[in-house]
Amino acid sequence: MAGPKVRLVLRAMEREVCGKAFPGADGLQSPEWPRDPFHVLIATVLSQRTKDMNTYKAAKQLFARFDGPRDMAEADVKEVEMLIHPSGFYQVKAKGIQAICRALVERHGGEVPEDMDMLLALPLVGRKTANCVLAYGFGKDGLCVDTHVHRICNRLGWVHTKHADETEMELREIVPKDLWCDLNSIMVRYGQGVCMPQRPRCELCPVQGDCQHGTKKA
Ligand code: SF4
Repeated sequence: MAGPKVRLVLRAMEREVCGKAFPGADGLQSPEWPRDPFHVLIATVLSQRTKDMNTYKAAKQLFARFDGPRDMAEADVKEVEMLIHPSGFYQVKAKGIQAICRALVERHGGEVPEDMDMLLALPLVGRKTANCVLAYGFGKDGLCVDTHVHRICNRLGWVHTKHADETEMELREIVPKDLWCDLNSIMVRYGQGVCMPQRPRCELCPVQGDCQHGTKKA
């Protein structure tokens, strides 16, 4: 798969879906908090294993009460749990968020590091979260591969991988850098509305002819 083809497929998908997705967005609207690295980091942790709307509710409540790593690190864990309850796994996430905040304060002077390895050294931060922070928080070249990107790229036949981290490594070779951030936001939306996990709507999909799964189905 060559870069120009990737570009055409992505633009066709983008035309099909309205709005763009990123952790903490409530579907079609923009969040009410700034998209700086700290907010993106915490919203991405909250988004683990839940839907956008739940992430949005939890992040909105949390940021209304605590708005920085120092406040969050020193908060009562029970209060954090209550605020982020809508996101699910709230006990694990509350503990993790406070551990992240403490690490930010102790190791990085209360700032989110702009470096992949330093991000990966934070609690609860894997490659997906680190890439989201780099892409959406710092505007850098981050290729954020979540479950939608992983599934759709395998269906398209761009990659043949088992794990999201492998998908990221292969996509780095075939997707032009200027599309890395768009790829995530377009495919998240596409995976929610067209190329769903169960029963993808291939008959409505404008890239069916360029998709391995779609052409088999046709
Ligand atoms: S053709 Fe089907 S499987 Fe392929 S991208 Fe479109 S919806 Fe997904």
